[in-house]
Amino acid sequence: MRYQQHLYNGTRDELVEAVHQQLRDKRFNHCLRVEQTAIQLAEENGVDLEKASIAGLVHDYAKERSDEAFIGMIKKHQMDPDLLNWGNAIWHGIVGAEFIHDELGIEDEDILNAVRFHTTGAVEMSPLAQIVYMADYIEPERDFDGVDEARRITHKDLRAGVAFQTKHTMLYLAEKNAPIYPATLLTFNRWVAQKQ
Ligand code: GDP
Ligand code: FE
Ligand code: FE
Repeated sequence: MRYQQHLYNGTRDELVEAVHQQLRDKRFNHCLRVEQTAIQLAEENGVDLEKASIAGLVHDYAKERSDEAFIGMIKKHQMDPDLLNWGNAIWHGIVGAEFIHDELGIEDEDILNAVRFHTTGAVEMSPLAQIVYMADYIEPERDFDGVDEARRITHKDLRAGVAFQTKHTMLYLAEKNAPIYPATLLTFNRWVAQKQ
């Protein structure tokens, strides 16, 4: 099928092919599963199914780029220089959105923001951004303690799913003494913390 032209100027098969060209089979197949999970969550939450399909397919589009490619893009777009202190885990969403814009011609800000925010979350997340954040976390092959609870909560209440993932990611990062990206902290304060 052809997408609405203002979202992507081509068919789904063409977009799938463009994503596959960038990614090893394992990650490409993850993107297909995130797409299907995102479409399901979009149906449940009254969100545009084509946006869910596109955002799910492309969310990890840039993940296999070199550090040099990301650094070049951060400089080209004069993005926050603090990004240079981080690495692929943070870059592939926030900076990856610029590769998607430039190479795939996707200009819809809701789709681009869903990609930007899919790893760290954000204080303000549209329903589409919440869906991609959660679909990435609960796609059928994800297997971690608590994933079934995450699935149940998310299908019942999307925003509760966002809070669940945000809390568990913070605990996971703290447990392994990993540096916490500022946006991840802000997401926690907005979506999890209660005012005292
Ligand atoms: P994937 O691209 O499908 O593997 O999933 P994500 O994009 O959600 O996550 C990529 C990696 O980033 C995961 O290993 C997360 O644990 C990690 N991550 C998420 N938030 C942070 C953070 O604030 N700091 C650090 N150091 N890593 C993070
Ligand atoms: Fe990712
Ligand atoms: Fe992913």
